[in-house]
Amino acid sequence: MKHVQSPEAEPDYSAGAAYVSGRYVPAAEATVSALDWGFTRSDVTYDVVHVKDGAFFRLDRHLARFQASMAGLRMKIDLDAEGIAEVLHRCVALAGLRDAYVAMVCTRGVPAPGMPRKPSLIENRFMAYALPWIDVFTPEQQARGAHLIVAKTPRIPADSVDPTIKNYHWGDMVRALQEAEDAGAESAVLLDRDGFVTEGPGWNIFMIKDGALVAPDRGALEGITRGAVFDLCAELGIPAREGRITEAELREADEILTCTTAGGVMPVSRLDGRIYGNDRPGPISARLRELYWAKHAEGWDATPVRYDA
Ligand code: PLP
Repeated sequence: MKHVQSPEAEPDYSAGAAYVSGRYVPAAEATVSALDWGFTRSDVTYDVVHVKDGAFFRLDRHLARFQASMAGLRMKIDLDAEGIAEVLHRCVALAGLRDAYVAMVCTRGVPAPGMPRKPSLIENRFMAYALPWIDVFTPEQQARGAHLIVAKTPRIPADSVDPTIKNYHWGDMVRALQEAEDAGAESAVLLDRDGFVTEGPGWNIFMIKDGALVAPDRGALEGITRGAVFDLCAELGIPAREGRITEAELREADEILTCTTAGGVMPVSRLDGRIYGNDRPGPISARLRELYWAKHAEGWDATPVRYDA
């Protein structure tokens, strides 16, 4: 017999759940207007928090950064941090995910017909979604160390697009990823116009030299995972600081590691033609990666998902 789906059939959230225009829908139905400036002008900010083993990691910091990003772009929504968190909990719960990539997004919105071109007049829109876990580098790449290149494409200048406000201005990042693809690498680190190391498509970077970590002091998002790496270093008694990193210094590092919410602490084993260590994650990178996940398993800054709310 032919199966006929009744109109009241339960929505299928197995591929993720979203909150758009005040309603919860399957992730595949989460759409944005073609007229929204978030789409037509990349006039949008967002944040991503992960859920591991049924708990958010550093949720409060992600919410605070998202609110600061919205304020930086002069955007306003009528939910406070608690209200946003409630939506995120519900998206994860609807999708029934134990490990998830959870995004909150605010777009400028759709200008009313004939409205003067004043961003302040547009009503901003909030949406959120929870998807099954996403890794920027595959688990295999993380285990053997990612293969990177230094992109020829420079990072968009920070005084044009502030990299500390998480954004969708990915023209430079996508070009860098294409360069990586052409070179048979997995991703690319971008330099600013003065030749200093900034970050990569979706991750922050550290170089390790003589037993100490250095993270770029410019041109990058103040990553929550990067902050976690600084905390791990303090715990392990490993010196770590921010500083200027030239391309040559990066190439001559003992180890390189990348880090992000979508993957955690992710060591690098190759940069262009250079092979680091034994073509495997270096000892400090490996130790930091292990401790990052061990502490997650112990409930480090964890907020359990409210699955039954
Ligand atoms: N840099 C960029 C450009 C990013 O998009 C991201 C995360 O998506 C990061 C860095 C890492 O930040 P976090 O550790 O807060 O996820």
